[in-house]
Amino acid sequence: MRAVAWSLAILGVTATLQAIVFVLSGSVALFADLIHNGGDALTAIPLAIAFLARSERAERWAGYAVVFTILASAAVAAVESIDRLMNPRHLEYLLPVAVAGLIGFVGNELAARVRLRAGARLASPALVADGHHARVDGFVSLGVVASAAVVWAGVSVADPLVGLAITVLILRITAEAWRTIRGVAEPRSDGVD
Ligand SMILES: [Zn+2]
Repeated sequence: MRAVAWSLAILGVTATLQAIVFVLSGSVALFADLIHNGGDALTAIPLAIAFLARSERAERWAGYAVVFTILASAAVAAVESIDRLMNPRHLEYLLPVAVAGLIGFVGNELAARVRLRAGARLASPALVADGHHARVDGFVSLGVVASAAVVWAGVSVADPLVGLAITVLILRITAEAWRTIRGVAEPRSDGVD
């Protein structure tokens, strides 16, 4: 529980810092990464509720709310990215965007280490899987750094393209989260979700 809380706090701070730079720069790649990190942090809430309230009903409804929130945010990210593809815009504050991507990488890597260590200690396959997920997400955030560099080199279409790629990833996570919630009623045999 403490590992989950810690990694949540780390991802929360990461998302807040990224949000500030997004408002400043208007980078849709950063926006998608921010929604992704925020969405991942939110998916921990149903698990926490289930743990604290020991109520499958509460977990399920919290899960539905999270899936809906992530889906709505992904739709916004998709619309923004497509709009930017059709109406290219000059991006400012590329250095802060790159730094925000780097912060996303560091935040996810820290969350990954907390989860992997706790997962190994508690022999929890679910926590270990979460750790690997966060590690992969760190590299997604590095994609924002790469897109800022490519935009700086003059290819401004990189920003919406990376935004769209990350949006597809968010939709995959949402589908996984949905399947996990639907599976709540059945007894968990292996603990992996
Ligand atoms: Zn993720």
